[in-house]
Amino acid sequence: MKPSIYGLSRSALTDWILENGEKKFRAAQIWDWLYRNRVQSFEEMTNLSKNLIAKLNETFVVNPLQQRIVQESKDGTVKYLFELPDGMLIETVLMRQHYGLSVCVTTQVGCNIGCTFCASGLIPKQRDLSSGEIVAQIMLVQRYFDERDQGERVSHIVVMGIGEPLDNYDNVMTFLRVVNDDKGLAIGARHITVSTSGLAPKIRDFAREGVQVNLAISLHAPNNDLRSSIMRINRKFPIEVLFEAIEDYIQMTNRRVTFEYIMLNEVNDGVQQAQELADLTKNIRKLSYINLIPYNPVSEHDQYSRSTPERVAAFYDRLKKNGVNCVVRQEHGTDIDAACGQLRSNTLKRDRAANRARIAAAKAKAGIGDSRA
Ligand code: SAH
Ligand code: SF4
Repeated sequence: MKPSIYGLSRSALTDWILENGEKKFRAAQIWDWLYRNRVQSFEEMTNLSKNLIAKLNETFVVNPLQQRIVQESKDGTVKYLFELPDGMLIETVLMRQHYGLSVCVTTQVGCNIGCTFCASGLIPKQRDLSSGEIVAQIMLVQRYFDERDQGERVSHIVVMGIGEPLDNYDNVMTFLRVVNDDKGLAIGARHITVSTSGLAPKIRDFAREGVQVNLAISLHAPNNDLRSSIMRINRKFPIEVLFEAIEDYIQMTNRRVTFEYIMLNEVNDGVQQAQELADLTKNIRKLSYINLIPYNPVSEHDQYSRSTPERVAAFYDRLKKNGVNCVVRQEHGTDIDAACGQLRSNTLKRDRAANRARIAAAKAKAGIGDSRA
């Protein structure tokens, strides 16, 4: 299978051009076609030689994804289900924010971290996405808007779709370089957020990259007992180890971190737990921010439900009393399969159900009984 040219940073594309005996400026032309003109094929790059177009076609594809489903919500959220070249499915979400268009990208097919509340973790990781497959999600969402011709541009990215981005480190880093490139999409690093479940050593690597991208940590519990019971990654990198890495990150980058905290009713949302959370983040009070996130119920995880508004309010008040910077996050797309991983898992379920129905119908036609049908 040929890789997508979207997976090459501008410097890697320049190297490829030089290795193929072409002049350096050809790389700049191709980059322009890809990210400024946003063409869909090499044939459309009309200022390149036939020979170079043939070479590009032999080596790369432009867009490796096929759009399977698009769901548009009343609040303008758009959810895309894309098919990868090997038939696997991923999802991407576009949210309309007051500050612009924000895209949530997927980095892996499934996720091995297996958090107990998450739809993505229901399916073990099948594979990492290539850098080109991650960039292509942004390009296809941008195309959706280009086709509507209202001049709207994707301005923000959150790496919060299916998968653990720091477990697909190199491809995610290349993706960040491509979308941030000032001669291409030029999406500002400060407009990009990478979210991690807390792979401590990779947080340090990320700090050393010298990028201005925001880092969000999925914390979800203020102590090891609770965190280990809902996020098994905490057994590998317990809170003390995670916080050491976060403090190093802050020191190395001088940047603030965001903590994500899903509000799970009567699990992690007590006032006492709010106090523990305030105490835990005390040393980095001015350099951290806490997002309280409404839980999107996942049918397979019915032990969890959304915190009541009263519990959220009491939790929030206790944090505020301690001087914590925090907000309750706005929700998007609640009328479509909104939770991270849900469109994909629900589509797979529907596909399986449709398949079963087809098999049952065929069997019925052939006169074979099936008690499950
Ligand atoms: N694997 C990374 C990034 C993807 S998950 C991480 O865990 O950070 C992005 C965010 O969505 C995480 O904070 C995750 O905990 C949260 N999330 C997962 N399932 C959710 C659900 N059902 N409702 C609300 N948030 C959820
Ligand atoms: Fe994976 Fe993040 Fe979901 Fe945990 S919350 S299972 S790390 S995608």
